[in-house]
Amino acid sequence: MTEPMDSPSASHFVTSAAVKRAASARAVGAVRVYGRGDTEVRALDGIDVDFAAGEFTAIMGASGSGKSTLLHCLAGLDRLTSGETYIGDVALSRLSDRHLTILRREKVGFIFQSLNLVPTLTALDNIVLPLTIAGRKPDMGRVDEIVQMTGLAGRLRHRPNELSGGQQQRVAAARALLSHPEIVFADEPTGNLDSRSGGELLGFLRHAVDDMGQTIVMVTHDVFAASHADRVIFVSDGRMASEMRSPTTHSLLGAVSGLAEASAERIPA
Ligand code: ADP
Ligand code: MG
Repeated sequence: MTEPMDSPSASHFVTSAAVKRAASARAVGAVRVYGRGDTEVRALDGIDVDFAAGEFTAIMGASGSGKSTLLHCLAGLDRLTSGETYIGDVALSRLSDRHLTILRREKVGFIFQSLNLVPTLTALDNIVLPLTIAGRKPDMGRVDEIVQMTGLAGRLRHRPNELSGGQQQRVAAARALLSHPEIVFADEPTGNLDSRSGGELLGFLRHAVDDMGQTIVMVTHDVFAASHADRVIFVSDGRMASEMRSPTTHSLLGAVSGLAEASAERIPA
């Protein structure tokens, strides 16, 4: 921590009685409305969900159900219309833009579907970039640990265009995990990868949870990807529809087809 968050006034913290177990992130009555009038879209419609520390949670749901909006609002990349999201016990709506930026830098990692690596920098420089920007020296022990885990050891001097898509996504994941953030959000991180590269990335994320106690929340439409999680939540029309613990591809296929049937019944042919 180089810079303090907002002054620690009581208003930034929920009472301990309200927290049943350590949650790294929470949404409470979260509403996000885009546009207005005829073009109004309620992307989040009062969703309540929490993400326990040290768990790997997957978020599934139809296209347009609000998954990315939920992730962006939890990560402090977008603001709610009403309700609240928390990282740890910090209520994001109460933070100024400046303090939100600091919170994202200090506490949040993000892995996007489209790789956002800097093409002119080596893999290593991309991994340590957030620290470089913050004017901090990377802990080389931690860099080694992450590099070993991602299997990128032989590729650190290469630029992104000399790496496969899977290697590039592992660089992006290493960058998100390097500072051991409170929570890592990933939006369809395997969406552009072939199945082998996707499997490697998922294995890395799973290791980070099991071996380093990392908290990860990942949006995916892929049951194989979601089967790596400890828990899957299903979002429908901006609300929590259901959830499943210890998912398998088999149990997820059943749940996904059940949800599809349920929503087909709601829409008259
Ligand atoms: P998902 O990630 O589940 O596919 P999104 O969260 O991206 O869904 O979108 C939820 C709904 O909100 C969709 O109807 C989408 O069109 C709408 N939406 C998302 N972002 C915006 C935006 N910036 N402006 C207007 N509508 C948006
Ligand atoms: Mg999305």
